[in-house]
Amino acid sequence: MTAATARRVAEEFAGLYGAAPDGVWAAPGRVNLIGEYTDFNDGFVLPLALPHTAVAAVSRRDDGVLRLHSEDLPGGIVRLDAAALVPGADLGWAAYPAGVVWALRQAGHPVGGADVHLASTVPTGAGLSSSAALEVVTALALDELYGLGLSRPELARFAQHAENAFVGVPCGVMDQMASACAVEGHALFLDTRDLSYRQVPFDLGAFGLRLLVVDTRVKHALGDGAYAERRAGCEAGARALGVAGLRDIPHAHLPAALDRLEDEAVRRYVRHVVSDNERVLRTIALLDSGEVRAVGPLLTEGHVSLRDDLRVSCRELDLAVEAANAAGALGARMTGGGFGGSAVVLTEASGADGVAAAVEKAFARDGLTAPGIFEALPSAGARRLRAVL
Ligand code: ADP
Ligand code: MG
Repeated sequence: MTAATARRVAEEFAGLYGAAPDGVWAAPGRVNLIGEYTDFNDGFVLPLALPHTAVAAVSRRDDGVLRLHSEDLPGGIVRLDAAALVPGADLGWAAYPAGVVWALRQAGHPVGGADVHLASTVPTGAGLSSSAALEVVTALALDELYGLGLSRPELARFAQHAENAFVGVPCGVMDQMASACAVEGHALFLDTRDLSYRQVPFDLGAFGLRLLVVDTRVKHALGDGAYAERRAGCEAGARALGVAGLRDIPHAHLPAALDRLEDEAVRRYVRHVVSDNERVLRTIALLDSGEVRAVGPLLTEGHVSLRDDLRVSCRELDLAVEAANAAGALGARMTGGGFGGSAVVLTEASGADGVAAAVEKAFARDGLTAPGIFEALPSAGARRLRAVL
């Protein structure tokens, strides 16, 4: 994120609204290294922030008017009344930032209104959390402009609440926490039960390794309903086992827990969540002890579990993982909600170009749209940018 980007977005703001913004903020997208579909089971996740960010130039206004503009989408300025925001209203993309205003006001925070201009480099719908980046950058800007004094986890909770209750997407809290709390050069080991977290040093370059993201550029419609169904299945599993969340099933007790479940699908979901939670802990232990290459097989194990037990993968994701591993990657998995979106690949730095080329070749061979492949460098979480006009 360069000062030049901040200046450009501030200048665009001035062109749109007729005055310089009060400030410019940025919040990143994220990629999850491991721990998938665990965040609504009170479990563990290990995301890292990407260099791709949503940037917002924002001015406070206290007349109740909320004006929203995105340079990335057509449609001009959306003008709303902050006091009249209603969950579920058909606001399109504007529902994400408007939802944050709504969530803060619902909690009694004195957010009068704002002028907002957004520009984001987070690819949308690629499973890299462009939506959370948008929410978190809005939340941080409002927090600072209105002096709310909220902590990063509190900002993440408001952002998640906006997406759940205002936009109507039943996501967990991982994406918003990663965007709000990440630190450059680190992965975020997050306990989604109480939002406690630890910054885990993640300097793959020092080990001669690279983490690649493969954006399959597909999003299958099946995704939304399937997400809700998996979520309901996990909750049913927790109820049947008498625990508040599947996180409460220790991995050693998994066989006994599975014996107590009758529903075949619920059994698979429970097996995935409990084993993926364990894989996060094993990954952390490996990173802590510098055995970074040994993380690779855990990624692939996690993919197989998502593919066969949770059944949220798809042809393109499976192909990316198989082609990367066949070309010598240390391991790979789908990341995010699945049914398209992106995969992560851990590879020797020296073999990274060959792995990327092999994935591209496999997609071309199967007549699929060329994937977008880039390196996931662990980047900074949400922050204010310096922008001198
Ligand atoms: P993901 O978060 O995985 O990228 P989502 O479906 O959760 O996918 O969120 C994507 C939506 O977020 C877009 O359809 C759009 O409404 C909104 N969005 C993302 N980036 C922008 C942007 N730069 N400008 C306006 N809206 C955006
Ligand atoms: Mg999203």
